[in-house]
Amino acid sequence: MKKFRIVKESFQNIKKCPGCALKKHRRNQVIGKGSIPATILFIGEAPGKSEDLLGEPFVGPSGNLLNRMIRDASDLAKCKPPSYFITNTVLCRPWIWDNSRDNYGSNREPKRSEILACKKNIIEIANIIEPEFVVFIGQVSFMYYSGEFKDNARITHPSAHLRFGGDYGGQTSPMYNTDIRTLSDLFRRFKC
Ligand code: URA
Repeated sequence: MKKFRIVKESFQNIKKCPGCALKKHRRNQVIGKGSIPATILFIGEAPGKSEDLLGEPFVGPSGNLLNRMIRDASDLAKCKPPSYFITNTVLCRPWIWDNSRDNYGSNREPKRSEILACKKNIIEIANIIEPEFVVFIGQVSFMYYSGEFKDNARITHPSAHLRFGGDYGGQTSPMYNTDIRTLSDLFRRFKC
């Protein structure tokens, strides 16, 4: 009960974040999804259009592939994945004006200043989740957080898999099998 109250209050602090420039244009702040606490904390890059609309991370094409990767890794490990929570290096969608009719712009990489402004939120999320292990999804989260979370692994961002193995849903991308092995070793290590 106490734990639940602390979690709720902490997320409320994050919700009250005064924010950086990204706050102005966002539809939803995307804190994360998954178990609380969790054995593994996944940190991606940034919410995209679908995530901004739904307020949940990894719900677009990259999310579908991430789910597939977790499923393939758990099949290889022959066990269920341990509990996990997924967040990003920034909680609001970075976007760039593109003259689109919906006035919604295109996704872009988060800037250094935006990532640093959001750092206190990510650390607070990690304190709530209390993970035993952190998996960086892509190079951006690895660059900014591998110093903070020593027990970590890095996998290729699903959007890169989609670029390199797009015709086959990302699974023929050169690093796909390596990532599945990384995750399945991890799942076995935590005894699923
Ligand atoms: N969706 C997310 O939530 N994060 C990413 O890094 C990519 C897609």
